[in-house]
Amino acid sequence: MTTSAAAHPGAEGATAGGGSVIDRLVEANQRYAAEFTDPGMDARPVLKVAVVACMDARLDLHAALGLKLGDCHTIRNAGGVVTDDVIRSLTISQRKLGTRSIVLIHHTGCGLEAITEDFRTELEMEVGQRPSWAVEAFKDVDQDVRQSMQRVRTSPFLLHTDDVRGFVFDVKTGLLREVDPA
Ligand SMILES: [Zn+2]
Repeated sequence: MTTSAAAHPGAEGATAGGGSVIDRLVEANQRYAAEFTDPGMDARPVLKVAVVACMDARLDLHAALGLKLGDCHTIRNAGGVVTDDVIRSLTISQRKLGTRSIVLIHHTGCGLEAITEDFRTELEMEVGQRPSWAVEAFKDVDQDVRQSMQRVRTSPFLLHTDDVRGFVFDVKTGLLREVDPA
């Protein structure tokens, strides 16, 4: 660990220091831990909210939503799609860790708009095994947000489905646009 390293791990090229990208992350963690003080929180999110969002690197959820450490659960995957595994996390979030509200966030320029379910066939041709999971590709981001809201609202496992809202994050402006659930 060098004292001249940039305070922000993303400020320079990932391998500018010569090590692997993961080495760089581990060094950043050492600097983080040096400044870290135990906030003394338990595991229940302060704002009682879970955010389901795409894994897209341009979406800084905490900054974009004014969230602080301990405020929320963040559940992310390719597309921010409500899969069975997302329902699993939301069920634990609500039933064991006290969250009540759910925010769903897709975004402009998502990679899932550029592929189709044919991706599964391509994989099968290449590796000889068809994935059990759906690609969950979509063409209309608003419609996919609506479908995600519907999947959450109709899940029998969730305790709280009255405060569920869906949005599209614009990666050019940083603004959220709410999607009408109708
Ligand atoms: Zn995306």
